[in-house]
Amino acid sequence: MATGKINVSVDNIFPLIKKFLYSDHEIFLRELVSNATDATLKLKHLTSIGESKSEYGSPIIEVKIDKEGKKLHVIDQGLGMTEEEVKKYINEVAFSGAEEFLDKYKDSAKDSGIIGHFGLGFYSAFMVAHKVEIISKSHTDAPAVHWTCDGSPNFELEASDKTTRGTEIVLHIADDSTEFLEKSRITSLLTKYNKFMPIPIKFGTKTETLPKPEGAKEEDKAPTQEVDNIINNPTPAWTKQPADLETKDYQEFYRELYPMQFEEPLFHIHLNVDYPFNLTGILYFPRLTNDMSVQKDRIQLYQNQVYVTDNVEGIVPEFLMMLRGVVDSPDIPLNVSRSYLQADGAVKKISSYITRKVADKLSSLFKNNREDFEAKWNDIKIVIEYGMLSEDKFFEKADKFALYPTVDGKFYTFEELQEKFKANQTDKDGNLVLLYASDKEAQHSYIEAAKAKDFDVLLLDSPIISHLMQKLETSKENISFARVDADHLDNLIKKEDTQISKLSDEEKDTLKKELEETIANKSYTIQLEAMDSSASPFIITEPEFMRRMKEMQQTGGGGGMFGMGKMPEMYNLIVNTNHELVSEILTTKTAKKKERLINQSLDLARLSKGLLKGEELTNFIKRSYQMVK
Ligand code: ADP
Ligand code: MG
Repeated sequence: MATGKINVSVDNIFPLIKKFLYSDHEIFLRELVSNATDATLKLKHLTSIGESKSEYGSPIIEVKIDKEGKKLHVIDQGLGMTEEEVKKYINEVAFSGAEEFLDKYKDSAKDSGIIGHFGLGFYSAFMVAHKVEIISKSHTDAPAVHWTCDGSPNFELEASDKTTRGTEIVLHIADDSTEFLEKSRITSLLTKYNKFMPIPIKFGTKTETLPKPEGAKEEDKAPTQEVDNIINNPTPAWTKQPADLETKDYQEFYRELYPMQFEEPLFHIHLNVDYPFNLTGILYFPRLTNDMSVQKDRIQLYQNQVYVTDNVEGIVPEFLMMLRGVVDSPDIPLNVSRSYLQADGAVKKISSYITRKVADKLSSLFKNNREDFEAKWNDIKIVIEYGMLSEDKFFEKADKFALYPTVDGKFYTFEELQEKFKANQTDKDGNLVLLYASDKEAQHSYIEAAKAKDFDVLLLDSPIISHLMQKLETSKENISFARVDADHLDNLIKKEDTQISKLSDEEKDTLKKELEETIANKSYTIQLEAMDSSASPFIITEPEFMRRMKEMQQTGGGGGMFGMGKMPEMYNLIVNTNHELVSEILTTKTAKKKERLINQSLDLARLSKGLLKGEELTNFIKRSYQMVK
């Protein structure tokens, strides 16, 4: 037997490993299974180029727990190691890697995924084991070796009688890590990290029911057999060519990824690039609601089919974080902080590649089947609008397929909108006025008033739409958005036939004075307008600018500009001087009755605008009952 001291300057490295990587103990299994996978893939390569005499066969990796013996085994049928190789790769290289790692990260990050990249992968076993053994038989003629290390830098190396090719790693689980002797814990770890690794992974066995033999009776039990329980899918959809997959395959893979998701995704995007970086993956557009709250099924990041994380911040552009699916790239540096990641050139390219692919996919969906695209619009608009706001490159492309629905369920692109609306919807200066509603129910009376004048009304109801409108108004020429209740329509849109007021100037002055005296609430600015006699007598409007600023403040993203505290409530009360009721207010003699007419009309206008609430609403209803009885 040979003994020796591992080449390392730190006296006892294992307590350090344990401490630094504390939060990520569980990744030891991922590292060992990754090594087993690497060893198997390396052998595959060697046999394929005739560099190994070994028969490749159909190797699997086995994970086994021995609860009584407090041991966990990871066994592969890969290329194995000779004694020389164990010395070189385990004793020397690994430790220089460990030293480098410890030097660099003494006081900082314990980002997951660092390990393999520093050659610390194998040694992560010491996070959970007090003793580790390697029993390995190389694919060459070299004899098998047995390496043992108890967590101090001292190791033992002796001959082994193992005859089959491959490596077995034996972990003697430490007393504080016995959770890793539990079947359920190991199952969930293998499912989390190794679900899509390229070599089949066996963990235990399962009972399989076989078909009944011919002539069996009804009451005869079907025969069963014990088979390997393979926990992974070695060829997940994203590793295949898009041409070899059908929609159904993508849907199946979606369910494999998110077993708890019952809704089908709306569509998918297959990512596949090998220059100037390597990246594969599939992104799915799920049905999205306006509720942008916490999301548990996120995009997962893999490296060569090994799960790394579901935090893809910095890699996937922010506006696409609401999507689901998989991104697999060996080119993403993981041993760095997130902020460094965002500054990394390769990662930036990856992010803009993803943006471009998503834009191209949306564009082709729009061109190839507009009807279907329109049907899906409400479920995907959040992503598109958010993308248009946050990425200029995306805006350029999305501007051609982003849709603006009307309250009647028609859909227009911005260009179509400009064409269609300019005929009769311009203001005094000839600018196109895009009337919109954000809530068909709440703004019903205003929408009806606009329709009565033959105006088209859009339905724009995303939470971030006010930001997008702001952007469109500055990037397009001669257009402005105005909500249907932003102002009196005649003020918003120029029209030919101006109404003549039935009231004289003198009467108007009196009316205005009386209204101002009676209406105590100073948030209303009174404005007299000669309108059609069939229009409402009192209409409350809220200036577009004020309201939009308020909304933008609520949904954030406005930067410091809106950090000026709460916006004041400001409304216009538009009084139709041609309405019968308004004439009546003016001619009523008794002060009491005049006051009641004014207040009741105001409350009706407020009710219509959804402003009447609480005590005021209760009082209004009481008063109305009094009046009708
Ligand atoms: P890395 O995988 O990043 O190279 P590790 O610490 O995980 O670092 O492994 C160190 C080296 O030990 C590997 O590069 C490989 O040469 C060898 N090794 C580890 N596990 C196995 C195994 N199961 N079969 C063959 N060689 C292995
Ligand atoms: Mg490794």
